[in-house]
Order: sequence, then structure tokens, then C-alpha cells
Amino acid sequence: MMIPLDLAQLVSNKYVEALESGSVDFIQSSMNALEDVRTGIHYLISFAPSLQKKPERKDHNILNNDPFAKPEPELTVLETLNNDYKLLLNKFPITPNHLLLVTKQYQLQTSPLSPKDLFTAYELLNLLDEKDKMLRHLIFYNCGPNSGSSLDHKHLQMIKIPEMFTSFQDRLCAGKDYFLPDSNTEPLQDPKTGFSHFVIPLPQDSNVIDEELLAMIYASLLQRILTLFQNWSQDRPCLEVSYNFLMTKQWMCLVPRSQPKSDELNLGFNAVSYMGMILVKWENIMEQISNLPHILDQELLNCGFPNTSGIHSSEYDY
Ligand code: AMP
Repeated sequence: MMIPLDLAQLVSNKYVEALESGSVDFIQSSMNALEDVRTGIHYLISFAPSLQKKPERKDHNILNNDPFAKPEPELTVLETLNNDYKLLLNKFPITPNHLLLVTKQYQLQTSPLSPKDLFTAYELLNLLDEKDKMLRHLIFYNCGPNSGSSLDHKHLQMIKIPEMFTSFQDRLCAGKDYFLPDSNTEPLQDPKTGFSHFVIPLPQDSNVIDEELLAMIYASLLQRILTLFQNWSQDRPCLEVSYNFLMTKQWMCLVPRSQPKSDELNLGFNAVSYMGMILVKWENIMEQISNLPHILDQELLNCGFPNTSGIHSSEYDY
């Protein structure tokens, strides 16, 4: 089954029903906008004390439970999408209509995104952004044990970007045209952030975007991630490849990850955090961040890798 054109309506109807029947457990939060003047990064901090009750993943072992094998019917928006996927509501949404794009066949969350994964993700973005010109969406994938993922069955997630929010990736790509990095041209990287990230602006015309183009862009970004892990392999030989994938209609971004959680702030980070949207459970941490927003960049760096802006590829790279 292809993506139905009335998908936005299907999703919001399903979400309202699931909320009423108690099948989704919406995380109530208050939101606070902050700017780190040193990096220029804008953050949206959501304070959600109810998350204190939610159990966290304890270790890196593959989990036995797979809630996506037989998802609850109340959460199932589409049993089949583009033949190979299911579209589900997230049981613990961070925004209304928080979606999961799940593979029908079990695949591991450590596996790379396929051309079809990428294009299906882009089609969803394109359809939902088109539906309401005031809204933008983010699709993301937390890949590998240090990426902040909690389930091992391959899944991408999609949320609406809060209105008026401008991420550092948006600023970085503003006014820039699409290009494919090669050995002379690096992906975009904001030199002011502490943490490494690789961004490519996407072509504005959605008609030129297909599986092959998205796969080439993703491969060129993944190549930088693998090179970075190769360069760190002597210092940290046990580190498994982990990264966050983020895509909007405007850009694609990969962020290499070294640990899932900041010990200093007792705070887990996933792809959304590396766009500046941070979910905090504890009041004292909320205060600490509000008093000194720069601590976020430091902790995002601790859970990632140092910025590599200005460093060019070498012949030893992937
Ligand atoms: P991640 O933590 O990135 O691996 O994403 C897994 C997502 O699945 C989380 O955002 C959870 O809220 C969500 N989730 C957990 N259990 C279920 C379930 N039974 N049905 C639907 N979504 C779930």
C-alpha cells in the first residue's frame, strides 16, 4: 500500500481515539525557550516530571521484548505502508501525533538505513509538510547502542517541529544550495557547537528527490561517521558505531555518539536533543540548565565527539 493522501487526518483521528481510550500515555510538559549565547544554539527545554516513573534501558544487550512485532491495534495507523513498513503511534509521545515507522520484518536498530527507508521517510515528510504549510516535521533514527534508542526492532520516528523553532541546522543551511560532499568538500558543520555533526542541505524541489539521491547523501554522511570512529578506535577501541540521523525537508544531518546519557545532568540524549529539543525530568536539572544553558553544549559534546569543522578528509578515510 502506498501512502494515503489523507494520512494527516488518519493520524490525528487515530491519536484522538488512542488518547481517549488511554492507549497512548501523553507526556505532559511545560516548555521553555533558551539561547546559549556562546554557541548561538536555540534550545526548547520541555520539563516533564511524569517521566521519572518511566523505566529506562539498563544495558546494551539485545532486548527480548519487541512491542512492534504485534503492535496494539489502537496504535496501528497503517498495517502496511510501501509494502515493507507499519506506521504506528508512539505509545509515549513527546508531541501529539508522534509516529513510528517500523519495519514489518524484524531488523536491528544497528543496521544502516536502506534507500527505501530513506525515501519512505522523505515521502512522509513531504506529505505532512505539504498538508499544512505552517507545520514542519522531523524524522529521526537513533542508531546503535550509544544513540539513546530504547528498542532494538528497526524504527524511525516522526514528530512535528514546534512552531517558530529554528534549529542550528536550519541556520546552517539557510540560503545554501544542495551539494554532494566529496574529498574536497565537507558536509556543513557549525564551528560554534562543541559536538561534531554533518549536515547537507536537501534540494528544495521534492520532484528531484528519489531513493538514489537520498542514499548518496546518506552514504556521504555515514562515510564521515565511520571515518570518525576509525580515527577514535585507538583511544577508545570498544566504542561501537552509534549515531543519530535527523531529516527535515530542508536538510539531512548525522551526529556521531559516544554515550547515550549525560551523567552530569542525569539526562538521556537522542536525535531530537541534537536539534536543541531537550526533555528534562528533574527540577534541579531544569534550574541548572536555565542558569547556564552552555552546560548543554558541553554535555552534548560529552555524549558525542569533538567538532571537526575545518578538518579535511584524508586518503585513509572511508
Ligand atoms: P527509541 O527509544 O528511540 O528506541 O524509540 C522507541 C520508542 O518506542 C520510544 O519513543 C517509546 O516511547 C516507544 N514505545 C515503547 N513501547 C511502545 C509500544 N508498546 N508501542 C508503541 N510505541 C512504544
